[in-house]
Amino acid sequence: MAQMIVGGEHVGARSGEVMEIRNPATGEIVDTVPKASAEDVRQAVDVAHEAFRKWSTTPPAKRAEILTKAGELVREHLKDIATIETQEQGKTLRESQIEVGRIVENFEYYAGMATKLRGEYVPLAERDKYGLVVKQPIGVCAAIVPWNFPVSLMSNKIAPALIAGNTVVVKPASTTPLAAIRVVELFHEAGLLPGVLNIITGPGGVAGEELLVNPRVRKIAFTGETGTGKHVMEMAARDIKRVTLELGGSDPMIVCDDADLDAAASAASVGRFFNCGQACLAVKRLYLFDSIADTFMEKFLPKVERLKVGNGMAPDSRTGPLHTAKQRQEIEEMVQEAVDKGAKVLVGGKRPEGEEYAKGNFYLPTVLVDVPTDTRMVQEECFGPALPVFRVKDLDDAITQANNSKYGLGSSVWTRDIAKAQEAAERIEAGYTWINNLHVAYDELPFGGVKESGYGKEHGMEGLDYYLESKSIVVAGTRPSPSAERKAE
Ligand code: NDP
Repeated sequence: MAQMIVGGEHVGARSGEVMEIRNPATGEIVDTVPKASAEDVRQAVDVAHEAFRKWSTTPPAKRAEILTKAGELVREHLKDIATIETQEQGKTLRESQIEVGRIVENFEYYAGMATKLRGEYVPLAERDKYGLVVKQPIGVCAAIVPWNFPVSLMSNKIAPALIAGNTVVVKPASTTPLAAIRVVELFHEAGLLPGVLNIITGPGGVAGEELLVNPRVRKIAFTGETGTGKHVMEMAARDIKRVTLELGGSDPMIVCDDADLDAAASAASVGRFFNCGQACLAVKRLYLFDSIADTFMEKFLPKVERLKVGNGMAPDSRTGPLHTAKQRQEIEEMVQEAVDKGAKVLVGGKRPEGEEYAKGNFYLPTVLVDVPTDTRMVQEECFGPALPVFRVKDLDDAITQANNSKYGLGSSVWTRDIAKAQEAAERIEAGYTWINNLHVAYDELPFGGVKESGYGKEHGMEGLDYYLESKSIVVAGTRPSPSAERKAE
């Protein structure tokens, strides 16, 4: 049985209760984890609170050394961590390996920033005083993580939090705690002080909720559904906890008449079906200029048909199962509603047939046209392998339709015309616009949504800022005051 890690120790829930972790491809139990109560979580927060004084005064270079070492250990154990993740999450082993590799890069990026942290000297109106702006850690931070990218979405939070001098309590999704626990173990092997990074497992409504209401938690870094994010923000407001919210998206992809259609078709296939479509940044609405729509589809549809669905551990699988039966049911309902309202399914639209699919949450990659805009697939977040494709007259039409969404996370435009690219980048309401490429959220660039897709940023120097407070200090008496100077004269 896997355990939580609190104060550097492996611990269970006081009640002894556990939760089962099941493999989405086979339905088999992979492992169990403790089912923490609010009391268990309070204890973890107290431990993190206790560790804060020591960690926040640990030299930044030492913090960086530990983060770097943790990254090296993750790289050494990459295959094992990726295998655990495939078993609990369902994604292909290749996708898990990409994700685990990304966290090493993330650790290296923030480790490099530790010794670059600076404040400011500010001259003031009075000659005998000056101001300083210093950056201070916030305190205990809660990292609440969803199931679609269990280790990278945790790492985006813990790396900047730790480098800034904060301590952390992680709550992974109830269905994907195992790879995250392994990464936290490696931090301790890398020499992290006990209590600085803790991980607790338990239901969101109990264990997660305690993190929202516990007064010792000073910041909540949350990734998950927009509905849950709104609740997190409301609860955080009660004692003005800091929050960053990375929420749902419905990213538009616009392909103009002058685009490189081969590149765009490949990107649309990867962009929609990577991780079985369960990515906040997945392409969720595809807008094609009318004049190239037929040619684009001739290139795109065969790619989608070729995607081999299967158990993530099988080397030839290109896409795994959906993470849960509920998630698959939601996609099936969205596709059915679209079809009932007049949409046509061009590829997929059903479960794959065969013995090997019987026990998993499999669903075929699906492409639809003529999807009415009042359907859930267009209005809500379609978090699975189904893509509605629309034809547009021109760029203005495409941008208007792209912006007709409550979300504003990612977006992309495909064109060789710099003026079109510029116009789209300026007018699309999103936190990120890729031009002729797709969906890598670079460590170097701030990432975060507008509208109902989120609040605050992860990645980049901005990501670190969200784990620091700016404090002003006024220093007086370091030189004679003007009146003392006059007397001396
Ligand atoms: P949820 O909002 O259901 O869950 C996210 C996390 O919050 C889980 O750890 C969950 O725990 C926890 N949680 C649930 N209820 C509470 C509560 N009352 N108090 C505190 N914590 C709680 O999201 P999903 O796991 O379904 O993740 C998918 C969503 O995440 C999608 O909408 C996706 O777009 C979004 N996402 C956004 C990204 C971004 O960067 N913008 C990136 C990736 C995903 P438990 O598992 O125990 O319920």
